[in-house]
Amino acid sequence: LSLSLQAKMSRPVQARRLEGIDKNIWVEFVKLAATYSTVNLGQGFPDFSPPDFLKEAFVRALSGENHMLHQYTCAFGHPPLVKILAQFFGKLLGRDLDPMTNVMVTVGAYQALFCCFQAFVDEGDEVIIIEPFFDCYEPMVKMAGGMPVFVPLRPKAPKDGKLMSSADWQLDPAELASKFSERTKAIVLNSPNNPLGKVFSREELELIADLCVKHDILCISDEVYEWLVYDGKKHIRIASLQGMWDRTLIIGSAGKTFSATGWKVGWTVGPNQLLQHLRTVHQNSVYHCATVAQEAVAQGFQRELELYGKPESYFIQLPNELQQKRDWLVQSLDAVGMKPIIPEGTYFLVADISKFKSDVPDVPDSDEPYDSRFAKWMVKNKGLAAIPLSAFYCGAHKNNYNHFIRFCFAKEEATLKAANDILQKWKQEKTSP
Ligand code: PMP
Repeated sequence: LSLSLQAKMSRPVQARRLEGIDKNIWVEFVKLAATYSTVNLGQGFPDFSPPDFLKEAFVRALSGENHMLHQYTCAFGHPPLVKILAQFFGKLLGRDLDPMTNVMVTVGAYQALFCCFQAFVDEGDEVIIIEPFFDCYEPMVKMAGGMPVFVPLRPKAPKDGKLMSSADWQLDPAELASKFSERTKAIVLNSPNNPLGKVFSREELELIADLCVKHDILCISDEVYEWLVYDGKKHIRIASLQGMWDRTLIIGSAGKTFSATGWKVGWTVGPNQLLQHLRTVHQNSVYHCATVAQEAVAQGFQRELELYGKPESYFIQLPNELQQKRDWLVQSLDAVGMKPIIPEGTYFLVADISKFKSDVPDVPDSDEPYDSRFAKWMVKNKGLAAIPLSAFYCGAHKNNYNHFIRFCFAKEEATLKAANDILQKWKQEKTSP
């Protein structure tokens, strides 16, 4: 072999922007679940089928006459999809939206988020993130050279022995206000919130909106769970509040909306003066996502527009079904003493594992938060996968909120029953000598 073929690289290869962000909770826990789990309530995806009308639309797009659906489409979104999204969100927001300039289709909500941070965050800019948060916000801010600044939702004890609700987790207005400075560029809002299932109230959104306007900052509003709201609660779009349209990027996901997370179709809706910069990032990185998937999602939205507000609408049926699943899991966890925090939205539920601590003793001075060790122990020893809440916190707060785990309840009845069986058996083993 010649010397040039043998020569190994000796210089450091990793770009500085990757420093400290190499670990990823999903990569780690998805692998664990695949290796050990018999019942996976970990990662957030339904184990039931998307609706027939959506699958049929995909099949039609794939095998129909229009072979152009196998080719490139417009960079910023397949025309039928951006048109229907503009119509649909225009109706929800009560404003005329232009499909070409107010909507951009992305590879899942994930890429929409990535585009936002790349487009708006400069070296040294601060981005406020409300804890607990969907974990990718932090590395994405850092990769753009920005500084995440965290503000926690603070839990209030529920009244007279009642179960806690996600609504009991609230921002402290003074603490939130103290995080805004002249370096602040944006705040990330995620309502309904993953992992708690909190649905921010109008008052809470007004508090955030007032601060955004006062400090002239952007709001990146991750609304992927917009249809998954329970008990008659309403999802309020912060972009519809006074002074917010011009500074808000609304992010959505067909994966969450139509129970098809593997399709990876997402979008951003917002004013052209913001979206033009997302388009710059998008055209220089991803360009566009699969045309057939976009075509099928367009047809799904067409159907939903026609059935809007009617009982046959998937956006009504899905939350109805999920609310039952939520109630079922709440009961199941409460019965064994793994105290659930009742979520107002999303398909996640956070539960308190304190009563199970005797089974998984703490290791003093370990770097790994207790709930993370607990979740790993549970999947290995009980075959039940969940995600530690500390994964949704950063730095100092990781160890303050380390006795909770997050379950996903977008699962078939059989899956939830199997989880219940594991929990019941575990409880019996605990109580019997
Ligand atoms: N935002 C939140 C809050 C999420 O929970 C998820 C998915 N878990 C995403 C964004 C990413 O959505 P998508 O699958 O459409 O990329």
